[in-house]
Amino acid sequence: MILPGATLGLLGGGQLGRMFTVAARTLGYRVSVLDPDAHAPAAEFATAHLAAPYTDKASLETLAATCAAVTTEFENAPAEALDLLSRRIIVRPSGSAVAVAQDRRREKGFFRDHHFPVGPFAVIESQSMCAPALDEVKLPALLKTARFGYDGKGQARIMAAGDAEAAWAAVRGAPSLLEGFVRFDAEFSVLLCRGEDGGIAFWDSPLNVHKDGILDSSTVPAGPALGPAIAKGRRLAERIADALDYVGVLAVEFFALGGDAIFNEMAPRVHNSGHWTIEGAVTSQFENHIRAICGLPLGSTARTALQVEMRNLIGADADGWRDILADPAAHLHLYGKEPRPGRKMGHVTRLFPNG
Ligand code: AMP
Repeated sequence: MILPGATLGLLGGGQLGRMFTVAARTLGYRVSVLDPDAHAPAAEFATAHLAAPYTDKASLETLAATCAAVTTEFENAPAEALDLLSRRIIVRPSGSAVAVAQDRRREKGFFRDHHFPVGPFAVIESQSMCAPALDEVKLPALLKTARFGYDGKGQARIMAAGDAEAAWAAVRGAPSLLEGFVRFDAEFSVLLCRGEDGGIAFWDSPLNVHKDGILDSSTVPAGPALGPAIAKGRRLAERIADALDYVGVLAVEFFALGGDAIFNEMAPRVHNSGHWTIEGAVTSQFENHIRAICGLPLGSTARTALQVEMRNLIGADADGWRDILADPAAHLHLYGKEPRPGRKMGHVTRLFPNG
């Protein structure tokens, strides 16, 4: 058990890291953040900020020497950094669990090997592979870079066979995955936390609405129509967590289609669709992630209001903060980031105690 007072290391200092750091410090832990960005949002709350590349040997040595455990707020933490750290201290979730989610090829292969339902896909590693893959996957399709894509970045739509060349250029010829477009009824995520003892706690699964590939809102409960798909999604997510011997918060995004749950992707970390748990659940995803990596008992994931809705504040949306503050149901979070179009600047969670 890692007790309050110990230092936790964090790879990545974005808004997820910021909320993790606030929760860790509230529980009495110290936090050392490694993030090359001098203005990393988590750094303002951290005990220490190592502003260096993720592969910087001296910084990784410092984390290994001063932290009781290390976790990550993003799946692109370099494998070599996680390997070096895991030889010295506890890394949760493990480097191998993070590696599965780091590369769409590996992630989809992992799902397929475990006989989990996935939409049609093909791996593309050269332009000549596009045409046969399109025959297999069928139109319309999405070309997604295997690595480093997020919030719809690194993705190109292929509506007609003639779009393939432009799509390949849009992903700059990077190894990619071609996915058939899933005509889903809705999207939801399964948010779970797996403790050191293998016990799993689920939060309610939110109904997620995306705009332009970016999460716009997450609402719980997701509604009775999604009940059967969510029940299936939970069982699948539990099997993933067990197969990876996972410790911490895991988010798995699904498409709901006719009562079935089809995998989209997973995040080996706290997740945007779980921000509502800060005010909307007895224990937030951030607190339970800390409890899990420290080997403490998990807290209750029960909802605190009949309905909870989280909305992202993207780009100029955050300028409306005065109006948000005037709404008695609203809890405003601003991440202190430089405004930029399309950037996640904050979020607002509204609690409706009576639905
Ligand atoms: P991703 O970053 O892969 O999760 O993609 C972001 C969003 O794009 C998803 O949440 C969906 O709304 C949409 N999307 C991604 N892949 C597909 C697909 N194969 N079929 C339909 N919509 C998709």
